[in-house]
Amino acid sequence: MTDYAALLKESGLKATFQRMNILESIERQGHMSIDAIYDKVVKIHPSLSLATVYKNIILMVEQGVLVEVPITGQKAKYELVKDDHIHLVCTECGEVEDKPHDSRADALFNSMTKHENFVLSKQQINLYGVCSHCQVKVAS
Ligand SMILES: [Zn+2]
Ligand SMILES: [Zn+2]
Repeated sequence: MTDYAALLKESGLKATFQRMNILESIERQGHMSIDAIYDKVVKIHPSLSLATVYKNIILMVEQGVLVEVPITGQKAKYELVKDDHIHLVCTECGEVEDKPHDSRADALFNSMTKHENFVLSKQQINLYGVCSHCQVKVAS
């Protein structure tokens, strides 16, 4: 598990228990919507409001601790900053899985954007489909 206190301080943020609990919940789950994060963290901090969670998430996105993952047809999810990866999004259960980028993908994106004279700053790719668990459910 990540040292959340160090991560927050490196990013210029105060390491409050609320923020650390938010980061811990997200890291356990991988990707979470604000509602799901609130449901988890309010169990530890009963006086916490949804607005406070929202404010903290936005702040941590701005400071480069979290990344927003917009997903078509779903509320945006948030994840800890990681190396470039591709998302496999299940349209049945909404599960988001990380797939590491290989060098062929990097080469493809670089040549494509260079050709278009487009300066690439970040990559975020979602592939939509049905995960192996949901394929079993559909079949039976
Ligand atoms: Zn699924
Ligand atoms: Zn991810």
